[in-house]
Parts: sequence; structure tokens; C-alpha cells
Amino acid sequence: LRLHPDDHRAVADVLASNWLTMGPRTQAFEAAFAAGLDAQAPPFAFAVSNCTVALHMAYVALGVGPGDEVIVPSLTFVATANAALYTGATVVLADVTSPDDLTLSVDDVLAKITPRTRAVAPVHYAGQPCDMRRLVPECKRRGIAVVEDVAHAPLADALVDDGHPRALGTIGDLGCFSFFSNKNMTTGEGGMVTTRDPALADKLRLLRSHGMTTLTLDRHRGHAYSYD
Ligand SMILES: *Cc1c(COP(=O)(O)O)cnc(C)c1O
Repeated sequence: LRLHPDDHRAVADVLASNWLTMGPRTQAFEAAFAAGLDAQAPPFAFAVSNCTVALHMAYVALGVGPGDEVIVPSLTFVATANAALYTGATVVLADVTSPDDLTLSVDDVLAKITPRTRAVAPVHYAGQPCDMRRLVPECKRRGIAVVEDVAHAPLADALVDDGHPRALGTIGDLGCFSFFSNKNMTTGEGGMVTTRDPALADKLRLLRSHGMTTLTLDRHRGHAYSYD
């Protein structure tokens, strides 16, 4: 890892600003990241502590809980599965495609789907996209949500139905990103959860902040004086 002198300066600027968390830099980062995913129609993007939190929030926002099954690939970092376990759901493993394609096998997902399956979490392993063109319609048809684990593939894309590339994390219902120190891009510790669904975005906004209806920064700026 080699951090650029600009990064050192950016951290020093934040320290000097006296506003350390969820401030204007966070908002600017969310906007820039969302525009990086789709300049024409940026998704909702919420910066969070890490990708594990992003995945947990994604599952909770979808209403995943006890009695539900979440299908995750057998080859991934353990957070993809752990975050589903936090909700009380049952994790079901599906195999990856082949030694040459380490992403989730859509055939094995279809074999593992039961009436209890609530979500599938494709992992775009090492930057290689899952077969979203096939997975998303199969899930949509059955009312199963798709939570993309994009920890290895920020700002990478995949071809979808119309033959045009779309950014990973904007194809399923939710996208979860990691900015941990060993990932493609880092904020030290950090993550992002994205969605195009306004109802899911409303839930994510509240889940990130313990249900508080306004942020500390908004109150500081005088946009609000209290919160529900
Ligand atoms: C690193 C990683 C995560 C978890 O990311 P954190 O930001 O460390 O919580 C989740 N999924 C995959 C595939 C990862 O590689």
C-alpha cells in the first residue's frame, strides 16, 4: 500500500477542520462514488464503517431474518455469510463456477433455492463479475433479492441484458463495497452501500444512524434542531 501525499493532506485537512465523522467530506465522497458508478443516474450511496456493516444493513433493509435463507458463494471472505447470520437467517452455500471462474455458479444457486430463499449474494471475486445477466432475472422472477458483494470490484462493470456495461453494485437490489486497507481503494476502514430503490434507500438512511431522522451535521448547520 502506498498512500499519495494528497491522501496525507486530505487526512490533515479533516483533522484541522475539527469535524471528524459523517461531515462534508463523507457527503462529497458519497456523491463522487455514486457518480463514478453511474454518471447519468447515480444510485443512492451511503458511506458506512465497513463492508460488513454494508452487507448487514442490506440484509436488514430487505427484511431478512430468522427462517429466511440467504445463498452466498462457498468461496468468499467470511463477512458475506456472517452478515446474514447477524439477522438470524440461515446461510446456504452455493459453489463457484469453475477453477477458471471463481464467481458464484448460477446453476448451483438455482439448485439451492427453496421457498425460504430471501436473498442471494453474488461476490464479484477478485474483480471478476458474476454472471449477472443470468442471475438477476432468475432471482427477480422468484421474488428473491440480489445483494452484490462488490468488496473486490469497486468501479468495475459487467454486461447486462441490453448489452451495455453497468457498474457492479448497481445491477442487483443493493451493492456493498469495502474500503479496508487491503482492498482496491481504501479509506483505512470503510465501506459503502448503494441502491437504486428509494424505499430501500430510506431504510438504509435510518439504519445507518440508529433510526435518527437528522444527522449531527444537519443539526450543526442549523437545518434541524432535534431528531426523532
Ligand atoms: C473484505 C471483504 C468483505 C468485508 O469488508 P470489510 O470492509 O473488511 O468489512 C466482504 N466481502 C468480501 C468479498 C471481502 O473481500
